[in-house]
Amino acid sequence: MQVAIIGGGASGLMAAITAAEGGCAVTLFERQARVGRKLLATGNGRCNLSNLNSPEGRYHGADPDFTRPALEAFPAAAARDFFRSLGLLTAEEPSGRVYPFSDQAGSVVDVLRFAAEARGVELRTGAEVYGLRRWEDGFLVGLLSEGLGFDRVIVCCGGVAGGRLGGTKSGYELLASLGHGLTPLYPALVQLKTPPERVRALKGVRADARVRIEKEGVPLAESAGEVQFTEYGLSGPAVFEVSRAASTAGEGAVARLDLLRGTPMPELEAMLAARCRDFPRLTGENLLTGLVHNRLGRVVLREAGFTQDRPLTAFNARARARIAGVVKDFALPVTGTMGFDNAQVTAGGVPTAEFEPGTLQSRLVPGLYAAGEVLDVDGDCGGFNLQWAWASGRLAGRLL
Ligand SMILES: Cc1cc2nc3c(=O)[nH]c(=O)nc-3n(C[C@H](O)[C@H](O)[C@H](O)COP(=O)(O)OP(=O)(O)OC[C@H]3O[C@@H](n4cnc5c(N)ncnc54)[C@H](O)[C@@H]3O)c2cc1C
Repeated sequence: MQVAIIGGGASGLMAAITAAEGGCAVTLFERQARVGRKLLATGNGRCNLSNLNSPEGRYHGADPDFTRPALEAFPAAAARDFFRSLGLLTAEEPSGRVYPFSDQAGSVVDVLRFAAEARGVELRTGAEVYGLRRWEDGFLVGLLSEGLGFDRVIVCCGGVAGGRLGGTKSGYELLASLGHGLTPLYPALVQLKTPPERVRALKGVRADARVRIEKEGVPLAESAGEVQFTEYGLSGPAVFEVSRAASTAGEGAVARLDLLRGTPMPELEAMLAARCRDFPRLTGENLLTGLVHNRLGRVVLREAGFTQDRPLTAFNARARARIAGVVKDFALPVTGTMGFDNAQVTAGGVPTAEFEPGTLQSRLVPGLYAAGEVLDVDGDCGGFNLQWAWASGRLAGRLL
């Protein structure tokens, strides 16, 4: 059987290896000059290739259960075994994140490429597929200057996230040309924009905070961990984790930060009272010294409506409660995200209802399959997106 894989990223390489292992003659088309370009940039160049924690609740889209058959057939442990069989050792971090033992994303791409080549996959790089249509009992795959016939096609073109690394709408368009739909698309795992004047002074400051995204008072997502302030807004792992909720919520979303998540409000108020009592000669500038980053302390004071030169003796209980309130609930309106170019994943995609979850074959076009991010599936930060790419590529490549 002649099989075309469109897209030489994570899911495409996996699908190609699997189909070739099943005895198919496989051609993989990759528009960029080399396969796995985005993979090289994953995990800050280390490639967080999977996550050993339960996938329960970690995937999003119209039907998160759609991922179940693929992930059950090829869970994180199977991904590790698979990579080991290709000669790639992996290491697990206490958080459950899995990385190549070499700490190099390049090794992941290399072993996949070696395996594809060894199994006879024809890797056609610099080969963008522009058209896809039904032809006789199979498909005609259209390149710039030629059309090639195949019995089966697996679309593995990824999503629009990470534009500079190859993110493109191409997969959606190819599938649309055969009658498939598309949900709205949102950047996810992405930095959030807030009014710049509220955060500019904090550029470069990091805080261990709790972040909650709310809209009209309704909590949408919550996370805790490192938050980085930037000149445009908020970044850092904890922000990435709630970014999907902020991105899809649209206008009116608010990020609420607890800047001292380990210290309950009464304890914080008591500490502020002690500071004012014990150091009557100090001013507002030093009220929060030792509790939060100095620059953050100054911004909190300003947000609470006080000046830095106000003597500590002038902060009565009400004033201290107001300041403690800002520390525990620093609210910033979310005005947008840093967009698809900066996002790690696309929320939304080709509707999963149009594909069989147990095979990833199209319900509309027999013989057509899709895997990876092109489908309306996105995972949490921490290796879940690559785990979906491997598992779905593995399942689609079986061509059931
Ligand atoms: C900066 C960054 C860091 C990330 N870090 C992590 C991480 O550490 N862990 C994690 O789990 N996830 C991470 N992700 C997400 C993860 O990389 C993706 O979810 C995953 O690569 C999706 O796999 P895919 O096969 O669907 O698409 P991709 O890996 O994007 O591959 C799609 C391929 O198809 C090619 N293509 C598209 N259209 C055509 C066409 N018409 N013809 C030929 N070729 C085509 C593209 O050039 C591309 O190479 C990160 C993403 C980014 C952007």
